[in-house]
Amino acid sequence: MGTETNHSPRQSFIPLCVPEIRGNELNYIKEGLDTNWVSTAGPHVTRFEEALARFVGARFAVATCNGTAALHISLLVSGVSQGDEVIVPALSFVASANTVRYLGAYPVFVDVDKDFWQIDVPKMREFIRNGCRWHNQCLINNTTGRKITAVMPVHLLGHPVDMDPLYQIAREYGLQVIEDASEALGAKYKGIKIGRDSQIAGFSFNGNKLITTGGGGMIVTNREDWATRARYLTTQAKEASKELVHNEIGYNYRLPNLLAAMGLGQLEQIESYLTNKKNIAAKYTQAFKQCRGIRVPREADWADSISWLYAIMLDEATFGMDSRELLDKLRQRNIETRPMWYPLHRLKSYEDCYSYKVENVENIYRQALCLPSSVGLTESDQDRVIETILELSDRTNAQDGP
Ligand SMILES: *Cc1c(COP(=O)(O)O)cnc(C)c1O
Repeated sequence: MGTETNHSPRQSFIPLCVPEIRGNELNYIKEGLDTNWVSTAGPHVTRFEEALARFVGARFAVATCNGTAALHISLLVSGVSQGDEVIVPALSFVASANTVRYLGAYPVFVDVDKDFWQIDVPKMREFIRNGCRWHNQCLINNTTGRKITAVMPVHLLGHPVDMDPLYQIAREYGLQVIEDASEALGAKYKGIKIGRDSQIAGFSFNGNKLITTGGGGMIVTNREDWATRARYLTTQAKEASKELVHNEIGYNYRLPNLLAAMGLGQLEQIESYLTNKKNIAAKYTQAFKQCRGIRVPREADWADSISWLYAIMLDEATFGMDSRELLDKLRQRNIETRPMWYPLHRLKSYEDCYSYKVENVENIYRQALCLPSSVGLTESDQDRVIETILELSDRTNAQDGP
């Protein structure tokens, strides 16, 4: 009990990405508690939906219990059906692919590009030209014989996908576009916020996302019929009648009012969060861009990335250690980092799904490391991350000799 330790104080823990609570979150949650609006109906849900739609610039927003549910329902209202195939990048969080499987549809994995790590749109076109045929007004995957009906671009780490050519391909082949914008709230494509011009997009408010409700998500669309249907399906397909009738199989996917209240408080501060993320990214880039063996992230000329997570790539030969070794060394120094997700097409659950020339994902998976990127990361904590990495790199480079 209260034992004093004599050895030097352990340096404080620097987490990868944690929430920043400093606004009206508690006030709004208390409003909900005081008025008994705690569950999935309530004024804060509507207010949060309206505020988010306004922020993004889209007409409609439907709050869900998490981002995965938002994507699941977005696929459903887009008309993706059992046995269809959906093009998904091989580098993403597993939820992107899982939601396709929830419908009994199958992901088809496409590579990401080397520079920005986003779905490789020219390669996707190449796949459609070389690996598919147009038959009875449908795009058929020659290898599997299945219909490809949709594509799910993922704006990875908050950097937007090149959407114009992607929508062009989608129009040519009648594909629905369901954007996984979980990591990209506030990101802009050619000056326009992700979600404003989307057919339909899903956002996430998980604990490590730009803004959080603990768990939560949002479907954003400009189509009123889709928004209405999304609201219906996420509310157990409850019919608008006095009788408790449910004519379809729905889902219990709505966001509780208390969490929406928290989201409102978070959203009020989003501009300062975005500024912080930008400053964090700029400082890392400044520190590492000349460092041997480190490649800093790039931004495409169409992109205004929110740098949700800042990820470097390590060249083992020149840096002197690989990404996992650096991860371990940083962990020993109480700094949390994280590798990129395991390539989706190599996961057990997806081994049998089709993938087209997935090459770049492997290298990114091996070399990438996400650095502490919390909105509230202090200057001195970021300095410690930078100095520790530079020091480790000096040490290994010195061992190499001249
Ligand atoms: C966070 C995330 C999701 C899912 O969000 P949850 O709210 O955790 O369900 C989906 N896709 C990507 C790319 C994500 O980063």
